[in-house]
Amino acid sequence: MQSQARSTTYDVCIVGSGAGGGMAAHALTKAGARVALLEAGQMWDPIKDGAMLKWPYDSPRRGASTREKPFGEYDGCIGGWQIDGEPYTTAPGSKFDWWRARMLGGRTNHWGRISLRFGPYDFARKSRDGLGDDWPITYDDVKPWYDEVDKLIGIFGSVEGLPNEPDGIFHPPPVPRCYERLASNAAKKLGLTVVPSRLSIITKPHNGRAPCHYCGQCNRGCMTNSNFSSTGVLIPPAQKTGRLTLITNAMAREVTVGKDGLANGVSYIDKKTGRDAHVSARIVVLAASACETARLLLNSKSSTFPNGLANSSGTVGKYLTDTTGSDVSGFIPKMMEMPPHNEDGVGGMHIYMPWWLDNSKLDFPRGYHIETWGGRGMPGSGFMGGIHRYPNGGGYGASLKDDYRRYYGSTIGFSGRGEMIPNDDSYCEIDPNVVDQYGIPVLRFHWKWTDAEYNQVKHMQETFRAIIAEMGGEVFSPMPTKEQGYGIANGGAIIHELGGARMGKDPATSVVNANCQAHDVKNLFVTDGSPFVSQADKNPTWTILALSMRTSDFIASQRKAGAL
Ligand SMILES: Cc1cc2nc3c(=O)[nH]c(=O)nc-3n(C[C@H](O)[C@H](O)[C@H](O)COP(=O)(O)OP(=O)(O)OC[C@H]3O[C@@H](n4cnc5c(N)ncnc54)[C@H](O)[C@@H]3O)c2cc1C
Ligand code: SF4
Repeated sequence: MQSQARSTTYDVCIVGSGAGGGMAAHALTKAGARVALLEAGQMWDPIKDGAMLKWPYDSPRRGASTREKPFGEYDGCIGGWQIDGEPYTTAPGSKFDWWRARMLGGRTNHWGRISLRFGPYDFARKSRDGLGDDWPITYDDVKPWYDEVDKLIGIFGSVEGLPNEPDGIFHPPPVPRCYERLASNAAKKLGLTVVPSRLSIITKPHNGRAPCHYCGQCNRGCMTNSNFSSTGVLIPPAQKTGRLTLITNAMAREVTVGKDGLANGVSYIDKKTGRDAHVSARIVVLAASACETARLLLNSKSSTFPNGLANSSGTVGKYLTDTTGSDVSGFIPKMMEMPPHNEDGVGGMHIYMPWWLDNSKLDFPRGYHIETWGGRGMPGSGFMGGIHRYPNGGGYGASLKDDYRRYYGSTIGFSGRGEMIPNDDSYCEIDPNVVDQYGIPVLRFHWKWTDAEYNQVKHMQETFRAIIAEMGGEVFSPMPTKEQGYGIANGGAIIHELGGARMGKDPATSVVNANCQAHDVKNLFVTDGSPFVSQADKNPTWTILALSMRTSDFIASQRKAGAL
């Protein structure tokens, strides 16, 4: 097929418009660069396209999930675990789930907005316990950028002074809801730390955006733009500079390289026409999400880079990690038949339980934090997950309706989100036999949890069961056995995949340097989760945003100095 080349040579071509790409587009256009942003998905605007306040009965499907909206018809993310025509494979014995968004703003349209800074220990874990690797940067290197992200986007939370949970520049947090107060009391009795949660939702006017009005539906996309999405907060100001060229439905195939060994643009498929096309640029920034960035690099083969671009170390695709995860839910009799009360709040938890223990007394390294869910949100299709699970629940007619009213809001759930250590058996590579509908070779995933993760998840299960017991409740499911992996979620299932183009000082063991600049190609940068050296017991996106802003500032300064 003939390739269509755009006549302009842009200062920067960015691939992907989610957290990492949206921030780079914002920062670089503000710094004066002319940017082409390639996005594989369609246009989307949370303010116009969100489904805020829609009732289940507004749709014949009652809001139930579809293949491209696995989290429900009203969810803000187009994409999912499987995308028609875009397969991925797993090696025998490996289980890995890969969530991919295909829309402007990527996964930031429906993410949980839990916005945590990595702490000082998280950048230097090897120095503390000898496992994995240290980052080439410290918390102090990233702190100014976390501060800038807080100021630009807005986040609520509370100043606590905890050692590895750095405070930010916070809006006031919402008060805990009834079920959160009960959970908090029980958890504190068991010695856990409980603080207000930290979510990128504004609770007072911020940079022209209205504060949250507590509809509790953040995953649908916020029509008042009160929570963070790249589409609502980063892309529009970038467009206002007049320097952003947004190219949607553009599936990047590879980064192209000139005779000088530098990146000179990106080739892509125009999904609307099926034709090959090309954007020329002086600098390329990859932010297509961690694994897709590894895929792009591995597929960018040339005579200069026969093993893929920026892959002289052979580590592209390696050191892939995901957050460990396991859940427990239960029924709390004292939360039955609650009098009507105000449970309005944000679309996420109002309390946060950070890691609270000393690993020297445990049989696993690293930690996890706890996310709490429950309460009386708007009922959706199939809500309450089976009334028959409640004592004497079920039946039909008036008594069934009555049971729903009595039991509604009387369940609670806890999810652990913990740190995995990178290992040699967890990585992605190009599958030699499979291509997607565009003819682009796809990824094959290899995955292995070790005892470090299994023992951590066992501890999660025991802790959550103890909290539910302390609340006087009954757990819905038996304790998973060792053979069941203690209920550990599949690799990728927590959707915090990181690594694949990790940063480091040594070009022999890492892909990018401390500025997320490829060791092998000085005008190639990566601003998604792939440069992460390790996970933390924190969700990653606030760090992706801070690093993207930091890298963009580095690019701007290098351009000014004429070095790029
Ligand atoms: C349900 C859910 C809840 C989450 N909750 C949290 C949370 O509470 N806190 C937290 O920190 N993180 C959370 N996450 C994770 C968070 O969404 C990601 O860490 C973050 O979005 C990653 O940003 P990114 O820019 O790397 O990727 P994305 O946001 O996924 O953006 C990547 C973009 O690149 C595009 N793209 C991909 N391939 C190509 C290609 N070949 N060519 C062109 N474009 C391409 C995609 O279409 C997409 O728009 C959650 C994720 C999900 C799904
Ligand atoms: S809870 Fe607040 S931030 Fe979330 S969608 Fe509703 S108004 Fe927007």
